[in-house]
Amino acid sequence: MAMARHIRKNDSVLVIAGKDKGKRGRVLRMDSKKNGAFVEGINIIKRHTKPNPQKQVKGGIVEKEAAVAVSNLMVLCRECDKPSRVGYKRLDDGRKVRVCRKCGGEMEK
Ligand SMILES: [Zn+2]
Repeated sequence: MAMARHIRKNDSVLVIAGKDKGKRGRVLRMDSKKNGAFVEGINIIKRHTKPNPQKQVKGGIVEKEAAVAVSNLMVLCRECDKPSRVGYKRLDDGRKVRVCRKCGGEMEK
């Protein structure tokens, strides 16, 4: 899905597939290959960690976000608050900005 590639860090996104379908969150960071995104509160996995006193690490279960495939996410427009396809617009000063295809609002804020 082409729209998914337009997701960036700090975007608000809607999960459209998978176990967290219907939830919203903010993109914390993209994964290194850019085909996944770490989204706040979404796709939480539990990791068991061993105690390591030398590093001040207590053993136990740590909850952490795992990457979500960007094809399972849609950007939420900040203007109309709807999941939207992303378009592009060139500004007078030459900058290219992402725009919402639903309301035409700019997504870079
Ligand atoms: Zn919009």
